[in-house]
Amino acid sequence: MNIVLLGAPGAGKGTQSAKLVDAYGFKHLSTGDLLRAAVKEGTELGKQAKSFMDAGELVPDEVVIGLVREQLEADPEASYLLDGFPRTPAQAVALDGVLSDISKKLDYAIALEVDNEVVVARMAQRRVCRSCGFPGTVETGPVCPQCGGEMYQRDDDNEETVRNRLDVYDKSTSPLIDYYRGNGTLVEIDGNQTPDEVFEAVKAAIQ
Ligand code: AMP
Repeated sequence: MNIVLLGAPGAGKGTQSAKLVDAYGFKHLSTGDLLRAAVKEGTELGKQAKSFMDAGELVPDEVVIGLVREQLEADPEASYLLDGFPRTPAQAVALDGVLSDISKKLDYAIALEVDNEVVVARMAQRRVCRSCGFPGTVETGPVCPQCGGEMYQRDDDNEETVRNRLDVYDKSTSPLIDYYRGNGTLVEIDGNQTPDEVFEAVKAAIQ
């Protein structure tokens, strides 16, 4: 089974991804994590991506599509959970192409729907592990409970950039909802609930 998780920044994609990986053994592919790793390592791709990410804008389609193709082709047997990709209709079409090239298809597009003000409040609290990406909050404290790494606040989680990322989501990413409704893979879930309640709804939808 291969699924994508759709939702605005702060909708809970990272949290639900961790639960889905634990429960089903998906291979988790987060383009945000891959891009942050490239920035940290100072690769050519990271240099291209950094200014877009700092502004809360989307990294150009061809850069992100190339990155995802490389990952999927490297392990064509895995069951994939894509998190933060696709984010534009062009990326969705490209994903269908890459999956078909490796004899796979997308089974579900799970859209987590959350109110904008809930997102802004969540992002002020959000902290992630610099080493393993563990999704936490200020309450997690400074040490990652999963790997002992440093919990930090992402540069793009400040309120101004979050509001810009929400605008970008409305303009570029929400058209994907229609794309996936059209091909019958869309599952819409109320992401304003607690993480456990959201997870129960996700599990029920993909049984
Ligand atoms: P995320 O961790 O998913 O919130 O992504 C952080 C940032 O990485 C986004 O604000 C974009 O600048 C960039 N990014 C992540 N995934 C994509 C994508 N599929 N297409 C374009 N830019 C992306």
